[in-house]
Amino acid sequence: MTALPTIVAKAPRRFYIETWGCQMNELDSQRMAGQLMQQGILPTRAPEEADVILLNSCSVRDKAEQKVYSRLGEYRLFKRQNADLLIGLCGCVAQQEGERALDRVPDLDFVVGPARVGELAQIVSRRRQGERVVATGFPEERTYDIDAVARSGEYKGMVTLIEGCDKNCTFCIVPTTRGPERSRPLANVLAEVRHLLDYGFQEIELLGQTVNHWREPGGDLDFADLLEAVATLPGVCRLRFITSYPRDFTPRMVEKVGTHANICPYLHLPVQSGADNVLRRMGRGYTREQYVDLARQLRAARPDLALSTDIIVGFPGESDDEFEQTLGLVEETRFASLYAFKYSPRPGTAAPRLGAPVDPDVASERLQRLFARQETIQKEINLSLVGKEYDVVVTGWGREPGMQMGRTPCHRIVHFATGAEPADLGSVTRVRVAGALTHSLKAERV
Ligand code: SAM
Repeated sequence: MTALPTIVAKAPRRFYIETWGCQMNELDSQRMAGQLMQQGILPTRAPEEADVILLNSCSVRDKAEQKVYSRLGEYRLFKRQNADLLIGLCGCVAQQEGERALDRVPDLDFVVGPARVGELAQIVSRRRQGERVVATGFPEERTYDIDAVARSGEYKGMVTLIEGCDKNCTFCIVPTTRGPERSRPLANVLAEVRHLLDYGFQEIELLGQTVNHWREPGGDLDFADLLEAVATLPGVCRLRFITSYPRDFTPRMVEKVGTHANICPYLHLPVQSGADNVLRRMGRGYTREQYVDLARQLRAARPDLALSTDIIVGFPGESDDEFEQTLGLVEETRFASLYAFKYSPRPGTAAPRLGAPVDPDVASERLQRLFARQETIQKEINLSLVGKEYDVVVTGWGREPGMQMGRTPCHRIVHFATGAEPADLGSVTRVRVAGALTHSLKAERV
């Protein structure tokens, strides 16, 4: 009888994913992680010990793009220690750069655009057989395996409603990098939500660049119908959706936000500017007055609503007066939080032709003034919440020992002392707000 061959223990292969950008990129990273884990490749927090490194990139602003290239430069050095290491560029920069990225970074192994994320497992195998793959573009048939999504460690389950965007705002590269808008059929969305509820997720976040523009493919249903269908599924404790487009909000959608207690009283509604002339040049399709009126309707339907927004400063041709109008809008609307960015010219977009560039120092100064104004407002709002009680979902540990963190239904960050018995991550605990910081609340468990 021949002897059995000796089994040599081999360390499992590892992968490392670095993610930039929006929630859609976060979900794409979970989908890529899930596919690698199905192949027996395990996650690591240390890029230097990885066999597969993926950079899931964002190209909304130029800086994010530069960061990805500089990171690729750092990671390719790991190939000196590990000849088997594969490095992939994924996400929006991947779609934008395609072949060019392979020419620019000689050690780059493959390029995967956002619409091709479902093919990652095959792309890795093809690379192991020698092919440097460029998988970009927007095929009609796409793979989306809801069983191959690594959702571990998350308290919320994310579900894509719409891929791509058809809005063509003059500053934005997303329609180029994520392709034309495609709504997922309601049945697929509900199947994925049920799947997440079976796994024990209590919070569901619906995703799309213009999430409230969802339409049943080939049917009559719109986002108000979808909200109704998801909010009434047994087990959905918290329902969020991001990002809403102001022009696409209908009175029926506003009514649903007011009717279902499990739809969280938090809404991200990017305004971009408070000046009608700038909004027109941006191609947003609404006026300042229409935006303010929508915010008023939403607050009337849901008085505890926390509104957040995005603002771009220094859009081509933005005058001092137009910027002052944006400050005025921020003053009037009193956002719970605000994300503001200096305008960054993007390839192939119309905005650079629509006005003279704003001096970068002027744009920086405007950004600082906007942040300062918002911080004062935010601190005032947070102070007004002292004494209120909230059910918070426990999301993590604080920086100091004995502290934990959570999110209120209105999405505010809360720091609280664990007390004798720390709350389980993902569980819900009741707290009373005891103090206010600019970007978070301090609370006690009750
Ligand atoms: N689809 C959403 C919308 O337009 O309402 C937002 C999508 S984008 C990923 C997120 C934010 O990035 C935008 O709301 C905008 O404020 C900002 N942004 C997009 N393009 C930009 C640019 N060229 N320069 C600076 N900020 C930009």
